[in-house]
Amino acid sequence: MGETVIPLADLRYAAPVPAIPALAIPATGLLSDALGRPLRDLRISVTDRCNFRCSYCMPKEVFDRDYVFLPQTSLLSFEEITRLARLFVAHGVQKIRLTGGEPLLRKGLESLIAMLAGLRTPEGAPLDITLTTNGSVLARKAKALAAAGLQRVTVSLDGLDDAIFRRMNDVDFPVADVLAGIEAAHAAGLGPIKVNMVVKRGTNQQEIVPMARYFREQFDGRIVLRFIEYMDVGASNGWRMDEVLPSAEVLKLLQAEWPLEPLDPTVTGETAERWRYADGRGEIGLISSVTQAFCSDCNRARLSTEGKLFLCLFATRGHDLRTLLRNGASDADITSALAAVWAGRDDRYSELRAAQPADATAAGERRVEMHYIGG
Ligand code: SAM
Ligand code: SF4
Ligand code: SF4
Repeated sequence: MGETVIPLADLRYAAPVPAIPALAIPATGLLSDALGRPLRDLRISVTDRCNFRCSYCMPKEVFDRDYVFLPQTSLLSFEEITRLARLFVAHGVQKIRLTGGEPLLRKGLESLIAMLAGLRTPEGAPLDITLTTNGSVLARKAKALAAAGLQRVTVSLDGLDDAIFRRMNDVDFPVADVLAGIEAAHAAGLGPIKVNMVVKRGTNQQEIVPMARYFREQFDGRIVLRFIEYMDVGASNGWRMDEVLPSAEVLKLLQAEWPLEPLDPTVTGETAERWRYADGRGEIGLISSVTQAFCSDCNRARLSTEGKLFLCLFATRGHDLRTLLRNGASDADITSALAAVWAGRDDRYSELRAAQPADATAAGERRVEMHYIGG
């Protein structure tokens, strides 16, 4: 008897179709989850593919030539994404971040941005639309993205030393091309630009001070560099606590060079702790997802490339919205289903990890990969 091969993509993660409540729950913009947290921020992964193989996200040994990425038909179309985004906005979402995988690899992304830019909050305000990219094709695309209605970008860059960076992206991609992308985004007015640097002890901590110096000097403090603690996302990166460089140590390294003053958060639920250079040359951010849990005001939801809703970066299961869409559910049905799903949300993985560092994921459950639900 022949063996049946089920593509990995189809088995990926458990994601039941959410039930549609018998009594409709209209959108009021005031959702509150089981821990009293509102819904404000939606991150949409537009592709699970990437042209980089950062070892902390898509290590080459796992994401190799045999890895099965999602087929085109599995992806949400731009119309489906926009429809869901509109329903999420009615529920209180004010900010949309496009991510991936590498979002700029999704064909025609500018059209999606233009569609999302047309959405309005219940108060009539436009959304805050942003995108996180590895910057590899940003130099070519910055102008068109801005013209489509994108307001700003976050670019990931883990160091200025070319050899270190090439090793970290593991596809031999040069720093100069990412810097050219940042310049182009700056010139296109896609600001304020943020640059994300994942810090791995023993890999790139020597790049912390040079990165800070570069972004202070080159852009006159207009680019915010954010240092991210290496996280135990997914199940592929072989994460070890001893490779995490706590933000407190990053801060110490920076303070040895320049006096820094703490800043108040601009919005509730902000992931980065902000610090300003005392000489006025801009600010930096510290994202301490490992050493300082910030679940208590986490207002973020994530929509995977194939339309599964995840309520936490470390979730093991999602909620299959694509099936609702493709089975012909009405806007009112989906709105009610979303309200019920959010009302049941009690995720707080980082807090649990802090309390019980070994592994806060239930035995036998596989955490979702970051390239699939986005950062
Ligand atoms: N490809 C785009 C990029 O790299 O900017 C967008 C997707 S990527 C998954 C989003 C963000 O997650 C990036 O800033 C990346 O550095 C960060 N990231 C990925 N894996 C991580 C990990 N294990 N720990 C901390 N940050 C991580
Ligand atoms: Fe690709 Fe971004 Fe993941 Fe790096 S962090 S492998 S660029 S998705
Ligand atoms: Fe939010 Fe989950 Fe991260 Fe906590 S661990 S801040 S709930 S995404």
